[in-house]
Amino acid sequence: MSSGSTGRGTGASRRMCVFVRGAVQGVGFRPFVYNLAKRLGLGGWVLNSPQGVQIEVEGGQADLEDFLVRLQKEKPRLAFIQSLEWSYLDPANLGEFKIRESKAGGEKLAFVLPDIATCDLCLEETMDAKDRRYLYPFTNCTLCGPRFSIIEKLPYDRPNTSMKAFRMCPACAKEYRNPEDRRFHAQPIACHVCGPRLQLLDGKGAPMAGEEEALLMACAVVRGGRILGLKGIGGFLLLADARNAEALTRLRQRKLREEKPLALMYPDLKSVEKDCFVDALEARLLTSPEKPIVLLRKRPGASISDLVAPANPYLGVMLPYAPLHHLLTRELGFPVVATSGNLTDEPMAIETDEAVSKLGSIADAFLTHDRPIVRRMDDSIARIVEGREVLLRRARGYAPLPIEVNKKLPKVLALGGHLKNTIAMSKGKHVFVSQHIGDMETKEAVEAFQQAVNDFQKLYEFKPEVVATDLHPAYASTQFGESLGFEVHKVQHHLAHVYSVMADNGLDGSPLGISWDGTGYGEDNTVWGGEFIIPDGGRGEWLAGFEPFPLIGGEKAIKEPRRSALGMLYACFGKEAFEMRDLPTLKAFTDDELEWMKAAVEHDVQSPKCRSVGRLFDGVSSILGMRQKISYEGQAAMALEFAANGMAERIYPFDIKSGGRPKYLINWGRTLSTIIQDAKSGVGNDIISSRFHATLAEMAAKIAEASGERRVVLSGGCFQNALLVRNFQARLGQRGFEVYTHQRIPPNDGGISLGQVIATAEARR
Ligand code: ZN
Ligand code: ZN
Ligand code: FE
Repeated sequence: MSSGSTGRGTGASRRMCVFVRGAVQGVGFRPFVYNLAKRLGLGGWVLNSPQGVQIEVEGGQADLEDFLVRLQKEKPRLAFIQSLEWSYLDPANLGEFKIRESKAGGEKLAFVLPDIATCDLCLEETMDAKDRRYLYPFTNCTLCGPRFSIIEKLPYDRPNTSMKAFRMCPACAKEYRNPEDRRFHAQPIACHVCGPRLQLLDGKGAPMAGEEEALLMACAVVRGGRILGLKGIGGFLLLADARNAEALTRLRQRKLREEKPLALMYPDLKSVEKDCFVDALEARLLTSPEKPIVLLRKRPGASISDLVAPANPYLGVMLPYAPLHHLLTRELGFPVVATSGNLTDEPMAIETDEAVSKLGSIADAFLTHDRPIVRRMDDSIARIVEGREVLLRRARGYAPLPIEVNKKLPKVLALGGHLKNTIAMSKGKHVFVSQHIGDMETKEAVEAFQQAVNDFQKLYEFKPEVVATDLHPAYASTQFGESLGFEVHKVQHHLAHVYSVMADNGLDGSPLGISWDGTGYGEDNTVWGGEFIIPDGGRGEWLAGFEPFPLIGGEKAIKEPRRSALGMLYACFGKEAFEMRDLPTLKAFTDDELEWMKAAVEHDVQSPKCRSVGRLFDGVSSILGMRQKISYEGQAAMALEFAANGMAERIYPFDIKSGGRPKYLINWGRTLSTIIQDAKSGVGNDIISSRFHATLAEMAAKIAEASGERRVVLSGGCFQNALLVRNFQARLGQRGFEVYTHQRIPPNDGGISLGQVIATAEARR
């Protein structure tokens, strides 16, 4: 039996689909792929198309992983990969590996490339004392450098980029015009003589130094424990010495960022390996042309301060992706915190004036330059879960590459959700998903969102037939969609998640969709977030969900897991819940607060009914005494995930009722009371948490059995939790279900826009 496209079933054959863009044609790339596949005993084929090299390989999981790692490591010397996307599809018995006839036809799609990290040749030149670009921080070539972040309009020519203000010097112009040169038509081509230059400003914006001196002084700022604002590729970053607790305390205080993990930039892979565990796939990802932030498990005794990621076993690590970063980190020789230069819930600054006025109270100095950033582009975040790459934030390096689907789509403009917003538009069989735009919690964030919508439409000269939005009437994205004057199609949040993970895996039809997250506007006036949905023709049948509980204080409960917990206790034990004074949850309230909570819940004031698994995680975390209040989204659920000690055999009891709407209702009352008993009898949080994860997967397995579907797709923020995914794969895999998870599109709300496009297209078929 096929064990589906995820998980690590023993010896089961899988199909991996790889799409490579870059200088991979006419350099012996196909024979190399052929030989590599043969050596590993993989079936499949390789094909040149006008858009790039397409590869499909079939074989065991370990060999496929090996193939992927060696594809990048052992590629022909002249080959350069600009982007490499891979995903798992269902096995197709491809047979012996072949080089297929090239696809001559097919339109040369004017795909806008993402920003590509500095290539090896450009890095060598930048570090070569004899080269004319020695120490030049903006060295690039046809194969690397900024793209999406500098394009003003199409076609991609220098006058249409933010490089238009720089007149090429004769030496650069010669390279640019010479078809033999590796900078032939490299639009951002530049050098010391003619290109962008560095400048160092003090915290108030007064110039202090230029060029090399600016770089050296900037390093001195970081070395001295102060904070540096750095203009990079897609916006400003804030840099500080990651080993210096005082510097990080200052950064957190000034940025009003209490505990949320901070990203790190290391000088090179070797230095990362000293602080983190890095396997072959993680190393590939770290050094890939996309160069995302990769979540890695921290080694005991790592060199960095605990303030980087308090109470978190993972570190978010990236490698330098522009010559400027290479120069800085090599000069420093130690890891730096590199977090986005913004105020809470505001977009990252991209202009120097803006940076100085907004970040002047945070940064002690700014290292800036005069190449304008056209489009804000955050660093992407990815992790490897069970041998698969999962993007958690899709921006620099990935956006705006399209997701290809099986059927032609109408022209849809989808506006996404409220948190981690992205937008998307469809043309032909392609869905262009925007870069991560962010949480729409401030006026500035909503403005940035509106700008991004206009920008996307203008860049692609796109006129939608229909605009897709969330069902939530109060979302800024919904309201903006209604103001545009096009036909509007509303898609329920969790249905959008389901269509998003289907598109990510090339699936059609009606699999069982499991859509678990923190919050979404439900169809029955309750807060959804633990839904089982069978998608059909752009609509969904609500098959199952969780027994609701009152979310005391509504939105307020998101920041205070103790409120979710109290609501859950009330749903199970009624008034008695308020007498359970020995529970950490109740101890976290004052007597007055408890009186107020009791009144609210009894009179049903500001206590919407909630079915969300994200909030169940919060509640259990509070009841076990882990987190009563949180300072960033998902913190309590993450604490619960990190507390677990692995996969549990034993699960907690639960009940499933049937017959109403939804058809199956999961009652977790006995789950909760057994957890409380366990805690009281001294069972450790590590064991309770492990059992809780296993129980959730078992609940899902029971619903899957009742559903009659064999294919199960997982989406929603809860599936960023690696342990939960592992439990699902184990418990559903054992019963013969095919479990599909996200790959190129985030499981969180970053994927909502893609799902909205597909649901809308399906509804109009
Ligand atoms: Zn290059
Ligand atoms: Zn020049
Ligand atoms: Fe969601």
